[in-house]
Amino acid sequence: MRLILFGPPGSGKGTQAKRLSERLGLAHISTGDILREAVRLGTPAGKLAESFVRDGKLVPDDLVNELVKERFSGTSRPDKFVLDGYPRTVAQAASLDQLLRQQFLALDVTVLLEVDDQEIIERIRHRWTCPKCKATYHTISKRPKKEGVCDECGSVLIQREDDKEATIRRRLEIYHQTHTPLMAHYEAQGLLRRVKGTGDIETIYTNIVKVLQSASPGH
Ligand code: AMP
Repeated sequence: MRLILFGPPGSGKGTQAKRLSERLGLAHISTGDILREAVRLGTPAGKLAESFVRDGKLVPDDLVNELVKERFSGTSRPDKFVLDGYPRTVAQAASLDQLLRQQFLALDVTVLLEVDDQEIIERIRHRWTCPKCKATYHTISKRPKKEGVCDECGSVLIQREDDKEATIRRRLEIYHQTHTPLMAHYEAQGLLRRVKGTGDIETIYTNIVKVLQSASPGH
């Protein structure tokens, strides 16, 4: 199974991508995670990306495309994967199309998680993230067992710099601007499916899996 999970920032696509990866044995490729790690390590790509990530702006296409190409090169090349947070522009989608063609890896489907803006702002304001294993918590609906500590690996939870309210609003604005032509790109390829991204996490997961099964019954 090879898929892209789309959705606005805070739609839960990271959580769902992690589940899909663990339960279906897919490589989870998140450009947000790759970029944050590059920034943390201070690599040349990280230094170029740092101010964009901090301000919630899109990192230039060429830089992100290169990082994704690197992820698909060499022995760590994934055969089955879920892409999370990439592509975010039509130029990135074109670069991905070319990369996958070169690698003889066809996409099975792309899934758009639909959640409206107001719900997203509420969700992200309460979101805490584990810097180590990337698990996310919500101060109202998904509290960690011990306050401020990750249930899964015991690390101290943080509120991501790009999860501040003004930043969220900017990210949503950018999302709406870029998302329409991007969805049209995949719709034209007959690959786009929509899933309601509100409600119980497990129900959303089940609905995504149903879409995957109908898109690619053999997997
Ligand atoms: P995410 O964790 O996917 O919400 O990404 C966090 C931040 O990383 C975004 O606000 C952007 O600054 C940057 N980023 C992640 N993926 C991309 C991408 N495909 N294109 C441009 N910037 C990206």
